[in-house]
Amino acid sequence: MKATNLYAPTLRETPAEAELLSHKLMLRAGFIRKAAGGMYTYLPLAWRTMKKIMQIIREEMDAAGGQEIMMPITQPAEIWQESGRWAVYGPEMMRLKDRHGREFCLGPTHEEMVTTLISGEVRSYKQLPLMLYQIQNKYRDEIRPRFGLMRSREFVMKDLYSFDKDVDGMNISYKKMYDAYSNIFSRCGLKFRAVEADNGAIGGGHSHEFTVLAPSGESSIAFCENCDYAASDEKAELKIIFSEKEELKPLEKVLTPNCHTIELVKNFLNVPIEKTIKAVAFQDDDESLILAFVRGDHEVNEIKILNATGALHLHMAEESAINSVGGCAGFMSPIGLKDGAKIVVDQTVMEMYNAVAGANEVDTHFINVTPKRDFDAEKIIVADIRMVQEGDPCPHCGKKLKMTRGIEVGQVFTLGNKYSKSLNATFLDESGKEKFFEMGCYGIGVGRTMAAAIEQNNDDDGIIWNKNIAPFEVVIVPVNAKENSQLDYAEKIYSELKNFGVDVLLDDRKERAGVKFKDCDLIGYPIRVTVSPKTLENNSVEIKIRRTGEIFNFDREICVEKILELLKNE
Ligand code: ATP
Ligand code: MG
Repeated sequence: MKATNLYAPTLRETPAEAELLSHKLMLRAGFIRKAAGGMYTYLPLAWRTMKKIMQIIREEMDAAGGQEIMMPITQPAEIWQESGRWAVYGPEMMRLKDRHGREFCLGPTHEEMVTTLISGEVRSYKQLPLMLYQIQNKYRDEIRPRFGLMRSREFVMKDLYSFDKDVDGMNISYKKMYDAYSNIFSRCGLKFRAVEADNGAIGGGHSHEFTVLAPSGESSIAFCENCDYAASDEKAELKIIFSEKEELKPLEKVLTPNCHTIELVKNFLNVPIEKTIKAVAFQDDDESLILAFVRGDHEVNEIKILNATGALHLHMAEESAINSVGGCAGFMSPIGLKDGAKIVVDQTVMEMYNAVAGANEVDTHFINVTPKRDFDAEKIIVADIRMVQEGDPCPHCGKKLKMTRGIEVGQVFTLGNKYSKSLNATFLDESGKEKFFEMGCYGIGVGRTMAAAIEQNNDDDGIIWNKNIAPFEVVIVPVNAKENSQLDYAEKIYSELKNFGVDVLLDDRKERAGVKFKDCDLIGYPIRVTVSPKTLENNSVEIKIRRTGEIFNFDREICVEKILELLKNE
């Protein structure tokens, strides 16, 4: 392609609306333009990159046995009512009515649609396993759309659904997808980790998030350098930390005036923070009270609390609710509370000796609390309910965990028969028995993957693309395109590269060389070929590698061969 035919409106100034670097760069480099909050137009450069990402995804999905289909984006409410998700999906779902008043939604995901599609039609185990996928726009009315394509309200997603005859089959499909995802993100040139994830509201079974490592990412990951364990901070399993055994002292109430935080109590009583027990009070959707207790230096993990208590959503508790069970905000412990609250205690708290905890009275704490002795075992749930922290022991090998940040670009889930059951989708097994499909679902955000690639690969001058997903692999810049001799020389190299299948752009714009070089760096083509009066004179070209800044000069005769060689490493 020639740059005079390319619509790539680059900007000199950084747009004020963008906070995240990838968002700024995509606006400046002429990749995207905002249409409405969380909705973007992909301009030619972005769409070229996204098409390459989609091509990689298609190849890997097909190789793993997937078949591409295209389902409607608009979905009837009935199938969501049948699965029970119409009511629980909440305001994130974009809903609309047709002229007859029938309700629809714009698909945030397609479990209902695809399960309904095959229900009644795939009748025999012989037709399984079946993997169907599509690449299309998804709609989620995110509460805070931000960061450009990272968290938008309309975005391109690949979603694949697997159907198997039993759990073993489902796990094989899961493994195939896990491997396909690893191939996809490797081929995109990304540094990523597959992290064990919580599978949230979507259903039972196991799940991994594919996370591109970048300090700006919204996901926090715990990982082990010694073994391959990696998990999202919400999911990371923790082992009990055993305190050194002590002689038990008698429980005692002490006055702690105005010490309503752990920091204040520990200073006032002059005890280490590891000797204190902290309370956090929540209420569920039905306003029932949940009191959680962790060691003073630990933080509660709301997802683990949901899993331990079966609660649906947590919000901070009202003081009146706390008081109704005899609790006192800022001075709480499980000791002596009236019935009416679910009490969840972190497993590590149960191993503490002679600790400090609230006395359920204002300005008062207990000292010498030993939970195993002082908490009523019948009334408490003991579980792992805390957030992982840097230095916590790895649950697999015991070495110290590290924390890092990343961007979730894909997620794989096993669903079991959650949807086949609620939507009554069955087949006949080998013995002629009616069975529910065992399912899995697997998503990749195409726009988010592009944004994550930029987040991970950039410098002060702009984006640095891996050749596999670059909008063009090579750009040829005649420094003065008004000079026919330069343009002809460049065009010949352009044709030769094209004949070798290289995705090449000829920057034939009659702009100043400096402007063109700046644009090349900003847009981030992996290799730049420069044609100047000097290279013309000695029958050569200058090659610049975007990532390293290295410059090579090659004779005209061997330059194509050399470019092909260099491209292999980009
Ligand atoms: P998140 O936790 O970031 O909201 P999610 O877990 O809800 O994402 P999934 O349902 O797993 O997302 O969707 C699969 C993929 O779709 C994600 O891994 C991500 O790449 C992409 N995706 C999800 N929500 C958005 C969004 N609002 N904007 C852009 N891409 C998104
Ligand atoms: Mg996800």
